[in-house]
Amino acid sequence: KKVADRYLKREVLGEGTYGVVYKAIDTQTGQTVAIKKIRIGKQKEGVNFTALREIKLLKELKDPNIIELIDCFPHKGNLHLVFEFMETDLEAVIRDRNIFLAPGDIKSYLQMTLKGLAHCHKKWILHRDMKPNNLLIGPNGQLKLADFGLARIFGSPDRRFTHQVFARWYRAPELLFGTKQYGPGVDVWAAACIFAELLLRRPFLQGSSDIDQLGKIFAAFGTPSPTQWPDMVYLPDYVEYQFVPAPPLRSLFPMATDDALDLLSKMFTYDPKDRISVQQALEHRYFTCPPQPTDPVKLPRPA
Ligand code: ADP
Repeated sequence: KKVADRYLKREVLGEGTYGVVYKAIDTQTGQTVAIKKIRIGKQKEGVNFTALREIKLLKELKDPNIIELIDCFPHKGNLHLVFEFMETDLEAVIRDRNIFLAPGDIKSYLQMTLKGLAHCHKKWILHRDMKPNNLLIGPNGQLKLADFGLARIFGSPDRRFTHQVFARWYRAPELLFGTKQYGPGVDVWAAACIFAELLLRRPFLQGSSDIDQLGKIFAAFGTPSPTQWPDMVYLPDYVEYQFVPAPPLRSLFPMATDDALDLLSKMFTYDPKDRISVQQALEHRYFTCPPQPTDPVKLPRPA
């Protein structure tokens, strides 16, 4: 079936946050693409001009570590976003028990993630929905961030245009405390969770509710004190938690090198004002000291 005369629809790839995703062939280029169909039919205002303008911005967001938005068009009351097709994602890599991740492999995956983020943060665009299944992997091993900026344009399906945009396990503490003025630090926290997940080969902080998520964070890093994070007590959903001391980070990541642990702790800083930036993280000695990040074409991938 043809879509907008240019794309030949193939099978359904999956159901995502915003709607169905199809595999398709771009008849103009012969390229395989993924088309994300976003339901907007019933919405009173339709796709407003702000959304269209922001999507145009995303089309200009070109970087080797960001998935390319090739095309965008309305069709039968749905908005169609056309992306380059990607073979697998980081979640599949982390979950695959046949894959051994060497320290250089983990470094390479984290570096590509941070490079993609750095490009967007330079343009003041936040991702806000970083999780391993949003980090797609192409045929040459390149990791590319998907769904950039969509959280802001379309909101989350459960609570539109609120702070609840993250998959909970990757959500920064300021979001869990209901902040309305968040910044690039929310992506750094999520990237730290992904870094930890690469090291542990399982999600690091698996909260079963927002309250439990904070509990998991405090159990790992200790309850934040107001001196550590002065603005915390003014956040909308702030409640005082029972004090828990921080265990040594080393005890949670016995396999990590000292450099890895140092970077991890700087990315997991409570006060978003003190949290390391993506650019600073890329300049951290973890990336300059050996082992070198693995060449993407040599990275292990699911069979
Ligand atoms: P979610 O909103 O849950 O992150 P998505 O809407 O991103 O899910 O994607 C839904 C499904 O489509 C997933 O199974 C994902 O692997 C697949 N998919 C999304 N984008 C692409 C792409 N560019 N190439 C290949 N598969 C994709």
